[in-house]
Amino acid sequence: SSNLMQGKRGLIMGLANDKSIAWGIAKACADAGAELAFSYQGDALRKRVGPLAAQLGSDLVIECDVTNTESMDALFAELEAKWGKLDFVVHAIGFSDKSELRGRYVDTSAENFQMTMDISVYSFTAVVQRAEKLMTDGGSCLTLTYYGAEQVMPHYNVMGVAKAALEASVKYLAEDLGKDGIRVNAISAGPIKTLAASGIGDFRYILKWNELNSPLRRNVTQDEVGKSALYLLSDLGSGVTGENLHVDAGYHVVGMKAVDAPDI
Ligand code: NAD
Repeated sequence: SSNLMQGKRGLIMGLANDKSIAWGIAKACADAGAELAFSYQGDALRKRVGPLAAQLGSDLVIECDVTNTESMDALFAELEAKWGKLDFVVHAIGFSDKSELRGRYVDTSAENFQMTMDISVYSFTAVVQRAEKLMTDGGSCLTLTYYGAEQVMPHYNVMGVAKAALEASVKYLAEDLGKDGIRVNAISAGPIKTLAASGIGDFRYILKWNELNSPLRRNVTQDEVGKSALYLLSDLGSGVTGENLHVDAGYHVVGMKAVDAPDI
């Protein structure tokens, strides 16, 4: 615990349950003194998100489906009314039809391609567009991505294409908003067992592969993503924008692992 985020107000989007990456980030920010608001998708999630928010001392819990323009406008209007200004926003949202997170990328349908891009890519731009107006003292915006944007990973398919577009949009947004002291970054997290991840084919195998092949020889946790997010969201990251910070136990640097398994 520190007071790194004392006096800072931030919006956390994408909390579904206590396994969510958003939860690891929210805990790290609250622990450092931030005041938080949460948005959640659909009424069904309110009974989960409400109590989690309360655990971190927040009662600002607002419904928002990012595919709905009115819902997005209402979220930011409420934040403006309650807080006036915003210091940071975390976008931990992604979605694709489960049936296309297995098999071949080439078989992706136009309908799912567009939905995946809308929810997983455009929504971040739409969020930053609205957050910008409230970040009158500068700010920090963060999204979550995955290595499947850079290299082909099994079953990631259309989500890999979407994450590549998301990573490119981070760079364009960073350039657009830099002159106003607003930073825009991504964290490329290693695989973590969450609700969204369980939709990906062979996810347990992917976890095992990362554990065996990453330099740290293990997977990362929500709390580790939270700590790195704190760096980017706080003044510790004041010189960093347009960055894609890999929090993946080093997996992305390995071309071929040295043979250190005794039975190979
Ligand atoms: P999660 O299921 O806990 O979170 C995904 C969130 O997206 C949920 O809260 C869901 O409600 C929200 N969402 C989906 N569609 C939405 C919509 N239309 N409007 C509003 N919210 C919507 O899973 P997670 O793994 O914590 O995912 C968070 C982010 O992290 C995603 O962008 C994911 O791609 C990314 N990520 C996850 C991993 C991993 O292995 N879990 C690795 C790298 C990146």
